[in-house]
Amino acid sequence: MPNSTETIADLQQHTLDPENWDALQGLGHRMLDDMFDHLRTVRKRPVWQPVPDNVKANFESGPPAKPIPAERAYEEFKQNVLPYTQGSIHPRFWGWVIGSGTPFGMLAELLTAGLNTNSTFGDTAATRLELQVLDWFKELFGFPRDASGLLVSGASEANLVALAVARHAKSPANVKRNGVQGLRQRLRVYGSSETHSSVIKSLELLGLGSRSFVATPTNRDFTVDVETLRRRVIADRVAGECPICVVGNAGTVNTGAMDDLEALADLCGELGLWFHVDGAFGGLAVLAPKLKPLVAGLERSDSVAFDLHKWLHIPYAVGAVLVRDAAQHHATFASSASYLGRLPGGITDGPISFNEYGPELSRGFRGLRAWLTIKEQGFEKLGRLIEQNVDQARYLAMLVEQTPELQLLAPVSLNIVCFRFVAPDLDAAELDALNTDILVRLQESGSSVPSHTRIGDRFAIRVCVTNHRSRLEDFDLLAREVTALGRERLAALHSLPAA
Ligand SMILES: *Cc1c(COP(=O)(O)O)cnc(C)c1O
Repeated sequence: MPNSTETIADLQQHTLDPENWDALQGLGHRMLDDMFDHLRTVRKRPVWQPVPDNVKANFESGPPAKPIPAERAYEEFKQNVLPYTQGSIHPRFWGWVIGSGTPFGMLAELLTAGLNTNSTFGDTAATRLELQVLDWFKELFGFPRDASGLLVSGASEANLVALAVARHAKSPANVKRNGVQGLRQRLRVYGSSETHSSVIKSLELLGLGSRSFVATPTNRDFTVDVETLRRRVIADRVAGECPICVVGNAGTVNTGAMDDLEALADLCGELGLWFHVDGAFGGLAVLAPKLKPLVAGLERSDSVAFDLHKWLHIPYAVGAVLVRDAAQHHATFASSASYLGRLPGGITDGPISFNEYGPELSRGFRGLRAWLTIKEQGFEKLGRLIEQNVDQARYLAMLVEQTPELQLLAPVSLNIVCFRFVAPDLDAAELDALNTDILVRLQESGSSVPSHTRIGDRFAIRVCVTNHRSRLEDFDLLAREVTALGRERLAALHSLPAA
């Protein structure tokens, strides 16, 4: 409040904009140049390195009340953040399922942040652009034009949205109003035992509980055993439970296994179940002509979840969900609030209210980085890169099979290779310990970053190739290093005095 000696007109008016625009703009140019250099030279650096103690200490200081110059904040970034990130942009990063990003995507991020738009509703280019991106994927996935969709944070949220629609559409009573509390029957969702953990988490969040998921055994290639699944659904119905949905995997996270989506679509049609496909990365096989037959049947699903930040290398974080029945999708998430209503004309009179198709109200403008990157590269090339990664995975599998000390632990159906170092005189626990050690030492050397999983009861070094910078020689190096680290560790074991 102004005191008696001040008038309103004398009040100082603050802003967060810079006092010196030119200086900040100059810093901006330097930052851009630095990041371009960083990307260009990424191959020369270690993939990953642990955060040193003196750097860790920088993340323990309290809330800054006073400002520091932007240059100094940027210096702190260069010293304490830049060298110690995940390494996902490196040609030898193969952990989990992680995309590499692109330089143009980085620029798209800059534009997105500059606009700082909330892409929820309204007569804006942003809402129209996001609808267009969704339309592109509807066409590519063989979904009808009048299907609905939403850009989300990733396949986890996409699975949650799709399963919420499935629950709404297939529950025997109004779950939106009464929750699952009033249901007399237990809702059941089916999928293979290789189904991603985000599906189970979604069922927990939707009030169904993890026990509502029926994990069906797989065939030897880790695809779902459809006949067993069918028998289980029928048996559950006879027992008075309420099966609502089957989740098909287009690319399991452990091994890249592709479920028989045609068979699952048939089964869901026959039994009246919602057919959801988790195609987080494998769904993008539709872009590669040679791989597309692997996802035949995907176009018959009721909903599909997929990521743009994994195998399309759009900067984090963006995924998408498509839902065949737009009315069910809308009914699941629609809510009324007077302040969110649309008026005839004016800014609210836009083509869509994305908040009525998912949990978010405020939404980042995720579509721009996708739209720009896809336009810059084109879907043909993006598809070729997917195929290239699958060929590289096969190449690595061949190297593993040619090396007597290496053993493939799962068939290579797509872009994931699970293998380990073996030695004849070690038991199961010793082999697990040896391979754990190899993997950790490989990561700590900065040479490459595979991740790990368990295949059956065996510890596996897991290489997932969703990386447009990897070259064949990178896999040669990996195979050589795993073998060398294994031999070294084995020699150390043998030189230990007998207990
Ligand atoms: C990565 C992944 C998810 C989760 O996607 P996010 O983008 O990490 O949220 C779900 N399913 C599969 C098969 C995945 O690989």
